Amino acid sequence: MSRLLEVCDLRVEFRTRDGVAEAVGGVSYAVDAGQTLAVLGESGSGKSVTAQAVMGILDSPPGRITGGQVLFQGRDLLTMGAEERRRIRGAAMAMIFQDALSALNPVVPVGAQLAEMYEVHRGMSRKDARRRAVELMERVRIPAAAQRAGDHPHQFSGGMRQRIMIAMAMALEPDLIIADEPTTALDVTVQAQVMEVLAELRREYAMGLVLITHDLGVVADVADTIAVMYAGRIVETAPVRDLYRRPAHPYTRGLLDSVPRVDHRGERLYAIKGAPPNPLALPSGCPFHPRCPRAQEVCRVERPPLYEVTAAAGTGSPGARTSACHFWKDELDALDAVNA
Ligand code: SF4
Ligand code: MG
Repeated sequence: MSRLLEVCDLRVEFRTRDGVAEAVGGVSYAVDAGQTLAVLGESGSGKSVTAQAVMGILDSPPGRITGGQVLFQGRDLLTMGAEERRRIRGAAMAMIFQDALSALNPVVPVGAQLAEMYEVHRGMSRKDARRRAVELMERVRIPAAAQRAGDHPHQFSGGMRQRIMIAMAMALEPDLIIADEPTTALDVTVQAQVMEVLAELRREYAMGLVLITHDLGVVADVADTIAVMYAGRIVETAPVRDLYRRPAHPYTRGLLDSVPRVDHRGERLYAIKGAPPNPLALPSGCPFHPRCPRAQEVCRVERPPLYEVTAAAGTGSPGARTSACHFWKDELDALDAVNA
């Protein structure tokens, strides 16, 4: 499988009136062609900022990339010429946002917006472009697509608008799509339908997908691997099944324990105590220590590196799992004892 995107030790700072915040503190992740990586974290964990830096749409200033590489098909987007970078980001990578209403042009009918992609980037005639636009609307399962192509974004429901945004992103058949909370504004049933459309097209076109979400419920069925972010860093990466069965970081375990489960109806849900830290004043040592039920003295002093979770401790291939917890092994042992 070929490596599509590799983010290496990416760092982003934000300059604010109150000081400099390290919004992204050395994040690394990779996506292969045809794979889905879910980036999971609470709001403010740096997952969107990382994606914005990758896509070249970071709000800067105040944001600034201060280090790292963003390799797309092996070449660094951060150092290549502006013209080439624009070409790649225009056609080979696309992004889907949470709020379609602000991402789509409110005064242009959706069919015309889609058609414009084909006219501008593929040099199609208006007539051919319009026909392709309707085909694309059918592909994302918009009922009566031909009739609705003349409608404006506000005439569609939230779920239908997200489908149109997916269609916009897919139009040029990019190699990589980054979807930032694509279903967060929708109710649960509609969420599932929109995710299904996205997952189906991703499979059909064998694209890579980076799915950014705070919602563990969204990722189980679609992701191959998961990277969990906390306070601007990755705290755990794992193949999706391993992460669900045997999380190797107390933060991940807290997230999993707070997801409602149908087989545990009525049980009180666990909630991680406290709130995510202020990026201008990150806690010493492990940034999770003030909220961590497993914290020891060393956690207040020493920042844990991203440890490799070895094969002996889990399923999966060696090197596929990491955890930024000094006590990842105890965490897994405790889980195994409970499940034994
Ligand atoms: Fe908790 Fe310590 Fe592990 Fe951080 S390093 S997650 S504080 S046990
Ligand atoms: Mg966000």
